[in-house]
Amino acid sequence: MGIDSIIEIIESSQEMQARSEVIRLSGKKIGLFPTLGFLHEGHLELIRQVRKRSDFVVMSLFVNPIQFGPNEDFEKYPRDTEGDLTKAKGKGVDMVFMPPVSEMYPAGFQSVVRVDNITKHLCGRSRPGHFEGVTTVVAKLFNIIKPHMAVFGQKDFQQLAVIRRMVKDLNMDIEIIGVPTIREPDGLAMSSRNKYLNQEERKSALSLKKAMDMASKLAGEGERETKNIITSISELILSYPFTNIDYINICDPDTLEDINLLKEQSLLALAVRVGNTRLIDNCLINIG
Ligand code: AMP
Repeated sequence: MGIDSIIEIIESSQEMQARSEVIRLSGKKIGLFPTLGFLHEGHLELIRQVRKRSDFVVMSLFVNPIQFGPNEDFEKYPRDTEGDLTKAKGKGVDMVFMPPVSEMYPAGFQSVVRVDNITKHLCGRSRPGHFEGVTTVVAKLFNIIKPHMAVFGQKDFQQLAVIRRMVKDLNMDIEIIGVPTIREPDGLAMSSRNKYLNQEERKSALSLKKAMDMASKLAGEGERETKNIITSISELILSYPFTNIDYINICDPDTLEDINLLKEQSLLALAVRVGNTRLIDNCLINIG
């Protein structure tokens, strides 16, 4: 069975724009789910949420080279196009936009969308250029697919914040839907990159969730100094084999700037390497 018999696939931006125009004129609300693919249950929940709110769901399936750094995993990023299309169809995706790289970045391409302050923290520090790659591709997808709404996961908290900022700052008429993180039964946040983990590393990957639980517990017991919390949870993470901390920050959930004392609501954001795999996770800590 050819993959295009599973679900309708569009590869050309022009054709996608024309199709979206017709769908909009028919009065239907278009919902977009952008993904790099290798779909798991977390992604399927995003599809469910956007399906509920819209009349026509478009999934963009595109491993975006410009959001990967030179030493990152663009080439070996896990791909399973046929599996993704089957899952998407099963969850009610109506159309897939799957452009080749040359369609998104033809010769001569030289424009970017850059969000300033909030991209300087957390992953922006350890992955220079990453968010510029994300905002540029998402802005392009918005112009090509013309969605009324688009769905993103809180698993990538900073990405969601950056996209909300871009939409607001550039007056894009698109509703952004944020969906809470979907986890494995033991608490590990679902991620396409979990596929890289071997059995032993998979055990150590749980340290991120354990650290977040410990932070909430410490806050519940009255600890307010973020540096004390960070010290305790760093020790916990490093007590697991194969772990290497990229960053652990406690920050303001709106500005993503570090804070010294917990606020009523604070964001704990973690990036930890387990073996060669970089995992991120986050949680909100509420006090009072
Ligand atoms: P990706 O293709 O992995 O970049 O992810 C596509 C979208 O799915 C992004 O908006 C992610 O934040 C979201 N996502 C990925 N993993 C999860 C998860 N475990 N729970 C909720 N959303 C997720």
